[in-house]
Amino acid sequence: MWVHEEMVNGEKLTEIINRDHENVKYLPGIELPYNLHAMPDAREVVKDAAILVFVLPHQFLPALLNTIKNEVLPDAVAVSLVKGYLEIDRQDGTLRTGAQLISSELNITCAVLNGANVASDVAEGHFAEATLGCSNETQSLTLWNLLNSENFSVRTTKDVLGVELCGGFKNVVALAAGFSDGLGFPPNTKAAILRRGLQEISNLIQELFPTSAPETLLESCGLADLLTTCYSGRNRRCAQAFAEDVTRSWEDIEAKELSGQKLQGPSTCIDVQSIIDKRGLRKKFPLFTAIYRAVIKEITPDEVFKCIGIGTS
Ligand code: 13P
Repeated sequence: MWVHEEMVNGEKLTEIINRDHENVKYLPGIELPYNLHAMPDAREVVKDAAILVFVLPHQFLPALLNTIKNEVLPDAVAVSLVKGYLEIDRQDGTLRTGAQLISSELNITCAVLNGANVASDVAEGHFAEATLGCSNETQSLTLWNLLNSENFSVRTTKDVLGVELCGGFKNVVALAAGFSDGLGFPPNTKAAILRRGLQEISNLIQELFPTSAPETLLESCGLADLLTTCYSGRNRRCAQAFAEDVTRSWEDIEAKELSGQKLQGPSTCIDVQSIIDKRGLRKKFPLFTAIYRAVIKEITPDEVFKCIGIGTS
């Protein structure tokens, strides 16, 4: 396992993990398997690997790929758990996702695994479902056999893009769910946000990739991930803190609330809006647009609800 090296209480994080079998900074209290070896050099980690599993905040993906791109075996397979990486071509507005970037940079197939998978809950062994998007049937079966277990139930689909985009777009809706909680709105109001959010996720996926399967939204990567994120995710928590005090910056909230982890919703929201704006689609995506305007502090979180016609008195 590649671990971005950092000092924790005067010791290297990789050394702590290898000695104590615990990631004391990012997954405290969970005993890691004894055969899991943390290494600080990503090139060393990938060089003999048949399967590469990418689990990192989307902001760090390009730099990592640049580091490893000449070391990967030509017949390796990648699986991306990264949520929210979107690269937009400034000229023609076309979109590249994280899995597409992995695939083109490393010249290998990249599948996607997304779902309602809050990391600490999965690590504690609580039941969770996930969706594996893989276009190649043989690779899909190999990955399913590795990933599926009694407490981690994986369903497969060929709709790789649908799986990946659901996982990224729900982080934007989670911000509005956090605003709703921060402003003290009742469950019915939050449910309205979730319903409209799901509708806009569906519309945006169809707008960008009309061949994507609508039923992907009903898999764990769609509806279920949206629900779990909007009730217990980090994006929701940070957005709540923002709604409670809009003078705070997102950087300050990330630093105080997430103890070193990265907040992904605001940056994905800005990327999503650049697609919406490039295509002149603000009217079709009123919720995403209002969330964006609140993220950049053009309007306040309570105005998000007014913008989309949700009375809040
Ligand atoms: P957060 O990144 O908002 O914590 O969402 C968790 C998640 O994606 C669970 O599937």
